[in-house]
Formats: sequence, C-alpha cells, structure tokens
Amino acid sequence: MNSALSERALAPAKVNLFLRIVGRRPDGYHLLDSLMVPVDLCDRIDIAVQPRSRACVVIESDSQEAPANRANLAYRAAELFLDRTGFSAEVRIVVSKQIPVASGLGGGSSDAAAVLTTLNRSLRAGRSVEELMSWAALLGADVPFFVRGRPALVQGIGEKVTPVEGWGGVPMVLAFPGSGLSTAAIYQRYDASLEPSDDSLTKRAAVTSIANLSGRRKPWRELLVNDLEAVAAEANPELLVLKNLLLQLGAEGALMTGSGSAVFGVWPTRPAAEVAAAEVRGRGVWTAAVETVEVSPAAA
Ligand code: ATP
Repeated sequence: MNSALSERALAPAKVNLFLRIVGRRPDGYHLLDSLMVPVDLCDRIDIAVQPRSRACVVIESDSQEAPANRANLAYRAAELFLDRTGFSAEVRIVVSKQIPVASGLGGGSSDAAAVLTTLNRSLRAGRSVEELMSWAALLGADVPFFVRGRPALVQGIGEKVTPVEGWGGVPMVLAFPGSGLSTAAIYQRYDASLEPSDDSLTKRAAVTSIANLSGRRKPWRELLVNDLEAVAAEANPELLVLKNLLLQLGAEGALMTGSGSAVFGVWPTRPAAEVAAAEVRGRGVWTAAVETVEVSPAAA
C-alpha cells in the first residue's frame, strides 16, 4: 500500500437462540452447541491506515468499559492482522460502542472480527474466510462466528461454524440489567454447580443437527434454552426479572444470551417489538428493538 485509507465498519451484536454445553476438554475449555444469530444493533468502528516504516496500532474508545489499549479486542485483532500479513502500517481504530459491554451480546468479539474483515478487504490482503477465522479463534471463542457473519450452528470451542439458512428477519427486544457478567466467572459457577459425579457433560449428545435447523423452526419456547442461564441468574437475579417482563409484554419466548446478563424476547412483528421496547425503556432499563440478519455488515 502507498497511500492512506479510511473505512467505517459496522460490528453487529449476536444472540444465542440456544446454548448447550456438551462437554469439557482436559484443558478446561467447554464444548458448545449453540445457534448464534447476528442482530442489527451495531458498534461503529472507524479504521484509518497509513503506510509507516514500522507497524503500529492506536485505539480510541468512547466507552469507559471498553478499554482504549491493548486489552481491547479490536486492537489485538489489528495487531494480529499486521503481524500475519507483514503490512507495515499504522492502524488507527476508533470504537463507538452501541452494544452494552459484558452483556453476552458479543460486542468485543464482533469489533475484533470487523477489524479483521475490514483490513483484509481494504488492504486487498486476499486472505480467505477460513484463514481469517483461524486467526479469529486466537482472539476469542465468538470471533470466528462474527468473521463468518451469518446465522450459524457454532460448536467445539467456537471454531466450528456451520451457517444455517432461514434465521434472518426475526424481530426481538433486547434488555440489559445495567451491570454485566464476566464470561469466565459464569463458566466457573457452572462448573461448580455440577455434581462431582455428574457425567452429563460427556453423555449429552449434540442437541441438534443442521437438518432440523435449516428453514424449520420449533415453537420458540421449545428452542430457547441456555445452560448458563440458571447460574448467571444467581449472580444477577435482575436478568430473570427482565426475562419475565418481556414474556409479560407479549414475547413468544425469551432467554438470556451467551453468558449474560442481557436477555432477549422474540416478537411476531417489528412494530410490536418497538412498542414493547418503549415499555421497557419507560421503566429505566436499557433496551433495543432489533431484528436478526442473514448477513452481517462485517461478514468476510
Ligand atoms: P461474549 O458473549 O463474547 O463473551 P460479552 O458480550 O459478554 O462477550 P464484551 O462486551 O465483549 O462481552 O466484553 C467482555 C470484556 O471484554 C469486557 O470486560 C471488556 O472490558 C473487554 N473488551 C475488550 N475489547 C472490547 C470491546 N471492543 N468492546 C467491549 N468490551 C471489550
């Protein structure tokens, strides 16, 4: 590259329509079986690239909770990209957060994926989706899903991503209790909640197959299940209050997303979801009416 470039990327949130823990590796990582879907609530990532004799990354963030340093996943994604491709450039990133932090909506992971896919495209680096996904897996369990950028069955420790058709356009209301949960702490609580003799983790078969996900939907209340919800609710009981509020307001089903603490409810139409979100907002709770999307704006 010989001249400056500047790009704006939209990094969407996700919800887990189901999240089952189906095993644990000897190194302690949990094996998942999850249907993950991007939604149209997006962080904004502005990326400027200048040729330089030495590679470097500079980051700004408009949120106190999303660190403006190397701890930011977007920073680490840019550093990894420069390292793997050998581009000698300064990458400046400005992160404008819309997605609540530590909410289970995947904001940090999505920001990182948007940096990888945007740099790949704008610098014409020509790396394949598979290669970007393998780098993404080094940054975090949810990052490969966001690089793929489509509704998908996500398995293993997040590295197996199988896109599924027919999950876009579902209206939802998101609600966030205002204080996030640490993913690591929720998994620790989950492990502690298992009986020492509990071998259900290894016995539990994968809950679903692609064949019964593609284009076919069970009734929402049967589909929506999250193995982490009960332990997360012990840490933050407010999330169950919000889940029940969404059901009272007419959700066809409601569930915690990821490791919490945000919850989502499913509505038959977007206008009905907007009405419910206005009701939630009126109670002083962070909320957004959204829709699931077939293709993320930051898909590779
Ligand atoms: P997941 O569901 O993928 O585990 P999450 O949605 O629960 O993630 P994030 O919003 O990604 O959580 O934040 C988790 C932690 O990551 C926070 O403690 C935050 O400080 C840190 N973090 C690093 N980079 C970012 C970023 N770009 N945006 C938000 N948080 C970030």
